[in-house]
Amino acid sequence: MRGYTTHSHEPIGAVGIEPMTSDILIVGGGIAGLSAARELAPDHDVTVLERNEIASGATGHASGLVTVVADYAERREAARYSIEFFREYDGTGQFSFHELPFVQLRTTPELSGLRDEAADFRDDGFSVTAHDVAALEDRYPNVFDLSVHTGAVVFDDAGWVDPYTYAATLADEARNDGADVRTNTEVTGLIVDDGAVRGVRTDDGDRRADRVVVAAGWRTPELAGVELPVRPFRYQTANLETGVSVTDYPIAWDQESRLYWRPEHNGELHVGGGAYYVSEPGSIRSTTVEGFKRLIARTVPDRLPALTDARLATDNTCPSGDSATPDHLPIIDSPPNGPSGLVVATGLHGFGIMAGPAIGRAIRALVVEADAPFPLEPYRCDRFGPNASWEFPYIAPTAAETGP
Ligand SMILES: Cc1cc2nc3c(=O)[nH]c(=O)nc-3n(C[C@H](O)[C@H](O)[C@H](O)COP(=O)(O)OP(=O)(O)OC[C@H]3O[C@@H](n4cnc5c(N)ncnc54)[C@H](O)[C@@H]3O)c2cc1C
Repeated sequence: MRGYTTHSHEPIGAVGIEPMTSDILIVGGGIAGLSAARELAPDHDVTVLERNEIASGATGHASGLVTVVADYAERREAARYSIEFFREYDGTGQFSFHELPFVQLRTTPELSGLRDEAADFRDDGFSVTAHDVAALEDRYPNVFDLSVHTGAVVFDDAGWVDPYTYAATLADEARNDGADVRTNTEVTGLIVDDGAVRGVRTDDGDRRADRVVVAAGWRTPELAGVELPVRPFRYQTANLETGVSVTDYPIAWDQESRLYWRPEHNGELHVGGGAYYVSEPGSIRSTTVEGFKRLIARTVPDRLPALTDARLATDNTCPSGDSATPDHLPIIDSPPNGPSGLVVATGLHGFGIMAGPAIGRAIRALVVEADAPFPLEPYRCDRFGPNASWEFPYIAPTAAETGP
């Protein structure tokens, strides 16, 4: 079991300085913390505490795919909330939502299964169509080679965003509503008194609040002092110089290789996947692994025949890693084994950008003890039972596993 820091029970202000006070403290300036700050700032005094710069964790390294209808297929109310948010938010500050269909290239099941799947989404009001190989060729002439596929499921309610601009726009909006977004401030633990959270300790002194949101990625359990089934994992990405125009290519995911890709504005193709767990926090490397590059080299020219001469332009991974859960859904909850006034938001499992709007809204609902426009039960920590451990096996709903 990982070692958890215990809550500090020293009285607030023990260092002799009156601590700064807010209504709500948010630990972590990633997409979860900033989405929550934007939601809460209009009617609360909010302070965000980020140990580096905003979006310096997983958020700033993300591919920005908004394929939430497909990736939150069992949580469609939250998916709908998020996609509608992105459409409305388009044009706010520097933020743009680039709508593009999302094509899932599928090897299973039979075409009739794909048609049933698409019809089920349409029953819920989403624009989703199953295509056989010929129909996909009609829709995207000379784009795909589907020799190993059954067909494709195409989600029209999809697109991509620039994650840093998205995070920065959320931060700007929160600041405009009075939030204090403090960077380079490390939180070292919670202050708990009589079973209730009273604030946090930081490397810049104590801060007082009766409500604290810990949204610090996979570090959340340790900082919040609660055991949660969350562990760090890696995603890797690369940009390819293609030598052809890919700006009209749809976003795609290949079930066989489990790679995904999307066009960049500069004509490059952004490719991602290559996920695996990191057993020891802190051991995450900041370079992509050769296995991931080899996977790209053998997959991309096979699936996208016009890209036979594509070359690696840049590659990237997230040194801090994203946080995973056993069922790939986040944990957004007031943990029953934690102090009152505490809310945790972690385990965004590779989908935190696309689900960010719903996550921010869910955090607000918990903090102000109000309803959300979608059910919150699927995100509670007790769904994993009392003995849930962080040592759970990997579930890779979309990403390729390439190993360390
Ligand atoms: C390569 C890659 C590609 C991805 N692609 C996509 C995609 O296409 N679409 C999608 O939806 N998602 C994608 N994701 C996933 C997405 O990036 C994450 O799910 C999401 O950004 C996680 O947000 P977060 O706020 O939980 O964590 P983070 O962004 O990691 O934020 C946590 C913050 O907490 C701060 N922090 C930690 N400890 C402390 C402390 N003690 N005191 C103060 N601050 C602290 C960290 O510095 C960090 O900024 C991708 C992820 C990666 C790595």
